[in-house]
Amino acid sequence: MNAAELRRLAEALYRELAGRPLADVEVAWNPRLRTAAGRFVYPRGEGGGAPRIEINPRYTAAGGRAALVEVLKHELAHYHLWALGRPSGHTAEFHALARAWGFPRHASRDLLPPPAPRWRYVCPACGRAFLRVRRIVRPASCGACSPTFDLRFRLVEERLSVSRRASSTARQASSTARRASSTARRRR
Ligand SMILES: [Zn+2]
Ligand SMILES: [Zn+2]
Repeated sequence: MNAAELRRLAEALYRELAGRPLADVEVAWNPRLRTAAGRFVYPRGEGGGAPRIEINPRYTAAGGRAALVEVLKHELAHYHLWALGRPSGHTAEFHALARAWGFPRHASRDLLPPPAPRWRYVCPACGRAFLRVRRIVRPASCGACSPTFDLRFRLVEERLSVSRRASSTARQASSTARRASSTARRRR
């Protein structure tokens, strides 16, 4: 879904939920969001322009349209309170909107799935496969077959097909990959 379609969906949802047009707010994808499914960004300073609703494309790619509608409703509720001049955090009023508009009142960040792996490494001997978000640049061999680097068990690299949007987010998540436990060993 492109930016214009996202905007149109937000407008349609807001008209249906609030009974008024969506105005003075930007709606945009933000693939750089790491842990949040979406966020409402307040205008900066006095006369700081329009506030912004940002949606994490990785979240909605994994959860489909239902997830997208859910996170849009959540962020639209923040916007709605802001537009009415009300405190717009996760207040009692926000929770009442969650019930009325039909979205879970918990912050949607909890629903964010892990980044999609882009690389698969297969052991030629035992057939074990290791998935990685980040490419392994040094030669690696299968940790199940040999505790130290062994050319006989050198992992065979395969690039997994993911959408461009998902892969750009996966690149952002490289630190997660680095922390992930690996049975592949580096050459000593
Ligand atoms: Zn929120
Ligand atoms: Zn192996």
